[in-house]
Amino acid sequence: MTISTAAALLASAVVACTAAPTPAPSPPSKAQPEPSPTTTAGDSGIDETIVRVRIERLTRDAATAGFETTVMDVLTDPRGWRRAGFMFVSDDHARYQIVLGEGRQVDRLCRPYDTRERFSCQNGPAVALNAERWRTATSTWPAGLEAYRVMLVNHEVGHLLHLHHPQPQCPGRGLPAPVMAQQSTTLGGCQPNPWPLQWEVHLASRRAESLAPPARHDPADHRPSPPPVRGG
Ligand SMILES: [Zn+2]
Repeated sequence: MTISTAAALLASAVVACTAAPTPAPSPPSKAQPEPSPTTTAGDSGIDETIVRVRIERLTRDAATAGFETTVMDVLTDPRGWRRAGFMFVSDDHARYQIVLGEGRQVDRLCRPYDTRERFSCQNGPAVALNAERWRTATSTWPAGLEAYRVMLVNHEVGHLLHLHHPQPQCPGRGLPAPVMAQQSTTLGGCQPNPWPLQWEVHLASRRAESLAPPARHDPADHRPSPPPVRGG
């Protein structure tokens, strides 16, 4: 890989909602062991995994007041990751946390990712969402604020479930975007879509990797998902 190619890769990844990491020392290891989520076989044949999440709002303004309710509504919606057998439970003492914060607060939670005070991230057990995006979406998002918030939650929680950005990000002009595509940056000809597609649900239901992946120090390690299958 040439230096310019590497720089281009890094530059494109940095714009990601889960931004590429800048070189930085590893965060200190946590003394607390990570409890395993409880997984049982469900009636549907898909493993059911209980994921306890702590939802925190670091903001106090009216525009963000419904954050906790919206997040739980999205996480328990039958169109969401529940289809992959993930049963989210709100728990103030849970290790996994979903936080809404201002840019600098999100930056701190996301290190070594560089969110430039504009983006959101998943970093180990933390999902940190940018409050300004929550209030206003982005200038290029065409589907309304409510749908943007749903997309933001499903995308970053998708990272918590160990899903990656797909390649290609848009499987074809006019098709619904995968929820793991970086729709905050560009739709690439796809239609905006806040919910996981069937193949993304299938990918999540395989439980191929553990939850809450740590920050990746190498952008090349941002592995693509398998190509979308027929039917989206
Ligand atoms: Zn992302």
